[in-house]
Amino acid sequence: MDVRYGLSLFCMDNIPGAWRRTAAGAGLLSPAGEVAPTIFAEMSAAAVRFDAINLGQGFPDEDGPAAVLEAAREAIAQGANQYPPGRGIPDLRTAVSEHQQRFYGLVVDPDTEVLVTAGATEALTAALLALIDSPDDEVVVFEPYYDSYAAVVALAGARLRTVPLRRPDFQPDLDRLASVVNDRTRIILVNDPHNPTGAVFASEVQTEIVRLAQKHDAIIVTDEVYEHLSFHAPHVPIATLPGAVERTLTISSGGKTFSATGWKIGWVHGPAELITAVLTVKQYLTYVNGSAFQPAIAVGLRLPDSYFADAAAVLLHKHEVLGDALRTAGFEVHSPQGGYFTVADATALGGADAAEFCRALPGRVGVVAIPISAFVAPEHHAGYAGLVRFAACKRIEVLEEAASRLATLR
Ligand SMILES: *Cc1c(COP(=O)(O)O)cnc(C)c1O
Repeated sequence: MDVRYGLSLFCMDNIPGAWRRTAAGAGLLSPAGEVAPTIFAEMSAAAVRFDAINLGQGFPDEDGPAAVLEAAREAIAQGANQYPPGRGIPDLRTAVSEHQQRFYGLVVDPDTEVLVTAGATEALTAALLALIDSPDDEVVVFEPYYDSYAAVVALAGARLRTVPLRRPDFQPDLDRLASVVNDRTRIILVNDPHNPTGAVFASEVQTEIVRLAQKHDAIIVTDEVYEHLSFHAPHVPIATLPGAVERTLTISSGGKTFSATGWKIGWVHGPAELITAVLTVKQYLTYVNGSAFQPAIAVGLRLPDSYFADAAAVLLHKHEVLGDALRTAGFEVHSPQGGYFTVADATALGGADAAEFCRALPGRVGVVAIPISAFVAPEHHAGYAGLVRFAACKRIEVLEEAASRLATLR
């Protein structure tokens, strides 16, 4: 259950060696001391080599709303090409505040309680680096987890504690959760809707997270990048639960909502003192980014409700096409409640070892997918052995072509 990573960044008596040990402990270096290629890089290379359909990495293959794209072009033409303000342009901070009020009834002060970041990734990184202050601090994450979480916890020099999400519904066991959170817990990090499992956390899970955070005086950091891609129920930010708002940093991004993953415009909102703490770190990471993309994402956040509803409906349809294809091919499919990904079990197809199965898949049928083990600490692989993640955020023709290729697996 415990994963203790290398040295803190702050004890570098022998700088090159210490950096290397830290990075190695974080799993960022291979044993030979090279930058370890991520499974995503390895699989994307295989996609090119075999001219395979890449259902590995989660990026859409179609552009987002025309009004948003046009707003970025217009911003460049109007000269929005220099450093924006450190907290982000006022118009985007206001748009984030309006969006939180409109969809969730949250009241957020755009001047003191919102910070624009280089994607959700920077918001998470800055939040963890800002809030962790001792090697005894613990960060609780739900496993499988987005790959940057463990790396950042390691870079921050804290201890990663995991709560498993298991089949069939990938909800955490509440007793297990309560046994992991304790007085050393500094942060409970919650990704909902969840990548890679497609789970949307049940309300009793959210309530328990808040109760435990209050009891142990922990901060809740959320990753809600799929907030508008919840298929069967409106998304509920944890910050809306009683007692949560004063101890929650809510993180999201325009990448997934507006099919603009390359723009890296994210944000975090929460109590002013916490936002100031995050800003102190963020200013030394990127300082600022995306001067022309910030006004464009503000336009996106103000699109009518129909845009957001349609985006979820279109993606759900894609998941259905993909799910049918995977079932026909012989996979056992876990239909997602939200997000870009469908998880399927390849055991019946001889894929009891999903990592090996995924390495062979591009050469066998010309499709790339990612084993769930890529999101799980090595000592916990056994619980996820046959599971494979497929991205559904691709054009229907692409999913249909993938379907006909996968059908040859049987
Ligand atoms: C894509 C993704 C991110 C990264 O968001 P950016 O805005 O591109 O930094 C973070 N968390 C999860 C769960 C994601 O799927």
